[in-house]
Amino acid sequence: MLARERVAVVDHAPLLSDLTPGRTGNLSVRRDDQFAATPTGVPYDGFDASDVPVVTLDGDVVAGEMAPTSEVPMHTGIYQRLDAGAIVHTHSTWATTLAVLGDELPPIHYMITAVGRSVPVAGYAPYGTDELAELVVDEMEAAESKACILANHGLVVVGEDLPSAVENTVHVENLCRLYLEARQHGEPNRLSEEQLATVERKFESYGQ
Ligand code: ZN
Repeated sequence: MLARERVAVVDHAPLLSDLTPGRTGNLSVRRDDQFAATPTGVPYDGFDASDVPVVTLDGDVVAGEMAPTSEVPMHTGIYQRLDAGAIVHTHSTWATTLAVLGDELPPIHYMITAVGRSVPVAGYAPYGTDELAELVVDEMEAAESKACILANHGLVVVGEDLPSAVENTVHVENLCRLYLEARQHGEPNRLSEEQLATVERKFESYGQ
């Protein structure tokens, strides 16, 4: 069941340790109305594909030797309402610094268009709750963003597949760092809606 997706979880999970030391964060990848997710409470290099839990969009675990991440409600909430093929959640330092300040990431660099025109902040709710999931999805919908900062918690980012969700996460974390560093030296300039629209058009034809 979801063999390819479970291998993708095993392959990408160690990247979570690069973003935050320890066992914080989780990721998942979807196929149709099910997704494969990181297991809870084990090191990111300490499980194999048969351990990886498979969860339905209603939150029922239907396969896998291990129990899924405690953030299943956030993953089901996102997959139910947004067009996402994969999700990465992390407590990476720079995004979480903005989370602690309660500040969104504004469009201070054109690479923000990888996820939208800003990264909004969802209000605080305890981890693993439906309340948190609803706050996050509401903000992502309203801002038309593939990423959301979770107040006093961390960051969640989606992509069409796991490699793109991971890549988007790295972009956002780097931009959060750039924004916070720039603020030490003055008020960062923001790109205009028109400037962002120009980049979005260029990105549509970018690549091989
Ligand atoms: Zn978390």
